[in-house]
Amino acid sequence: MTQVTLLPLLERELGAARVLASDRAARYGQDESNLGSFPPDAVVLAETREEVALVLRLAAERGVPVVPRGAGTGMTGGALATEGGIVLSTERMTRIKEIDRESLIAVVEPGVITGTLQEAVEDLGLFYPPDPASLSMCSLGGNVAENAGGPRAFKYGVTREYVLGLEVVLPGGQVLRPGRRTAKGVTGYDVTALFVGSEGTLGITTEVTLKLLPLPAAVGTLLALFRDVHAASLAVTSIIGAGHRPRALELLDATALDHVRPKSQFPIPPEARAAVLIEVDGEPEAIEPTCVRIGQVCERAGAYEVILAKDEKDRRQLWHARRIVSSSLKEAHRWKLSEDVAVPRGAMPVLIDRVHEIGKRHGLGMASYGHAGDGNLHVNVLSERAREEDGVKDHVRAAVADVFRETLALGGTLSGEHGIGLAKRDYVAWEQAPELIEFQRKLKALCDPQNLLNPGKMLPVGHRE
Ligand SMILES: Cc1cc2nc3c(=O)[nH]c(=O)nc-3n(C[C@H](O)[C@H](O)[C@H](O)COP(=O)(O)OP(=O)(O)OC[C@H]3O[C@@H](n4cnc5c(N)ncnc54)[C@H](O)[C@@H]3O)c2cc1C
Repeated sequence: MTQVTLLPLLERELGAARVLASDRAARYGQDESNLGSFPPDAVVLAETREEVALVLRLAAERGVPVVPRGAGTGMTGGALATEGGIVLSTERMTRIKEIDRESLIAVVEPGVITGTLQEAVEDLGLFYPPDPASLSMCSLGGNVAENAGGPRAFKYGVTREYVLGLEVVLPGGQVLRPGRRTAKGVTGYDVTALFVGSEGTLGITTEVTLKLLPLPAAVGTLLALFRDVHAASLAVTSIIGAGHRPRALELLDATALDHVRPKSQFPIPPEARAAVLIEVDGEPEAIEPTCVRIGQVCERAGAYEVILAKDEKDRRQLWHARRIVSSSLKEAHRWKLSEDVAVPRGAMPVLIDRVHEIGKRHGLGMASYGHAGDGNLHVNVLSERAREEDGVKDHVRAAVADVFRETLALGGTLSGEHGIGLAKRDYVAWEQAPELIEFQRKLKALCDPQNLLNPGKMLPVGHRE
């Protein structure tokens, strides 16, 4: 095996402590996708760009696959070494190299945890908005690779909007530095944007230059309760139609609410069959009047109760209900599979109805919640049978395929934020035309002619129709 010769070489170059052989690599064989365990032949804990370049050069010379890995919180199997080889972990590249208050820029290594950067910049009165729910665990390199989003994406956009420049090592070891440090800049193709969201298939990010904003002075939060999800969806479109720009607009359907109700830190009456959590930010004097006006819009759309957070404690309690949806569903069912499809906002109520029809048809529970402002729904397929039981995987997969079909029929997309990875790779041809897939294959071949960097991810394998 090629790795047999590569392993001692890597140990000699990097030191034995930084190279884990397969018997110590089990933890790196999984991520949060639940797609199974794929222990790599070796793990390299890189600490510098030079080391990343060395690994990619040696791997190319010997034809060994390399899979980049941040914190391993990915939901679509992107960091799994499905074809063996080396997992290159950036977990030790954790330096915040620079925070420039005048130019509103941060320069970071890829292993910096997202929440750590947020705290560091907030201490200086600055703001890094992208807020994946995993922010206390996931890395900025992983966020860039997945173009991660979160509740605040509605007002502030996803990771892509904040990546000004990158340092990327290509397969073979060549270093590219696309991008800039300026707020504006249009020189050449937007190569930076190409790498953002490329799921570790084109190059390994070793440095990120990020745009920062001033920290908003004040925040206000309210929760509107509805008797049906259509009224809740109408409230979402009405809030936006009335000219408001909340920083979060999160929707929970009846199944999601039923699961959080017992643990909620405030009473959620049983007649509440849908809820919208809304958060605004801005100047302190504008917050309360804005919340009141948004509450009135919700009432006109059919809200029977609007709860306005009076202080930070109330705010935390309202968000707690949203934050525990996923864990509450997981605890209550033997198997939970979460998808993150997105549709044009106006199509959301139709999608939620169709998701429930799919659940009935397949005899499976369905819960939908998520970033309603962006039409990005976390559709959860719930099963009382263990995933190991005969046939249950195919059964759940058939329901998920139906969710994808309905999403695409409504003009939507397979993934709003979790990416494609391994989990949705074989459905990409349902969404994208053959010539677009072929174009992306050519881009991949340009960066990675030997197909050694994260092979078998994101682009369909063998489907050319
Ligand atoms: C509880 C929970 C909540 C979540 N909530 C959200 C959410 O709200 N929004 C959201 O967008 N996602 C969410 N996620 C998914 C996940 O956290 C994100 O996709 C995150 O960006 C992954 O970062 P990571 O460091 O864990 O990357 P990993 O899982 O390690 O890797 C993910 C992908 O990035 C690639 N990669 C990692 N580092 C690099 C690098 N330096 N260079 C090139 N490629 C690299 C890997 O090869 C892989 O393809 C959630 C996950 C969990 C478990």
